[in-house]
Amino acid sequence: MPDELLIMALCWELNGKISVEEAYRQRSLHFYCPDKRCLIGVVPAKRTNYFFRGEPDAHKRGCRWEKQRNDGAAAAGLPRPEAAALPPPPTPTYLGAIPRIRRQPKPTPEQVRQLADRADQVPIRYSGTLAQVVDAWCAMSTEERSVYPLRVPAGDRTYASAFQFLRDASPDIARLGSETHIVFGKAEIRAGANYYFVDTVKRFGGPNGRLKISIRVPNDASSAEGLGQLVGVTATAFWHGPVPTLDRTQTSFFTVAPDQTVYSGLIVKAGEYQP
Ligand SMILES: [Zn+2]
Repeated sequence: MPDELLIMALCWELNGKISVEEAYRQRSLHFYCPDKRCLIGVVPAKRTNYFFRGEPDAHKRGCRWEKQRNDGAAAAGLPRPEAAALPPPPTPTYLGAIPRIRRQPKPTPEQVRQLADRADQVPIRYSGTLAQVVDAWCAMSTEERSVYPLRVPAGDRTYASAFQFLRDASPDIARLGSETHIVFGKAEIRAGANYYFVDTVKRFGGPNGRLKISIRVPNDASSAEGLGQLVGVTATAFWHGPVPTLDRTQTSFFTVAPDQTVYSGLIVKAGEYQP
């Protein structure tokens, strides 16, 4: 497999596989080539793209990344980024930034071999933004969602159990769980003078009857981009953030979508998505 960048490695402290972007943020940890014929120590590096770099001529014979030993730029341990194929990013297994981990004493070669065997059983640990996680969910089949792991503030879940479908949610807004899960459901978008309003079709018990959730998005917020095209269109809203509260007029539960956050907030997609 020549000219493919090594973008996933074993991480001793994480007890599994780690993406190179994540490793680059935690560069003091111990990383190893994942090919079991090899298992040399590698370090995360960045040129045009992120990749794991081994010492010159270090990858062992037969290793999938051995070609980097002898050819051209790779003789210095560097693949040629312009020629290198960049595999698609892995599916996120973690919503949010993976917490920093303490460096531990260097493992023995035998411990690295055992780590390689254990790592076969678990998917690569990869942190995703809310947009990446929602995109991954949308691209999955119902079966895939029920098996693929995703860590959310509620704990270790699958893509199916980390997402709460509004139609199936309790009418008690206090039990919405949007701080710990991602809630989603059919929504209608309205344009106002200063805000877009993203209104859920689902209604919740209020003081004067059943009320929708109305998420306000300031017109000049980056998250308002594209909402204009969704006015009057069937759409699905995904929300991860504070539980909306009763507005002053007691006609809806509301919250204001934050701007410039990556791990929480609002994502709106055209079309109607089901679990
Ligand atoms: Zn190797």
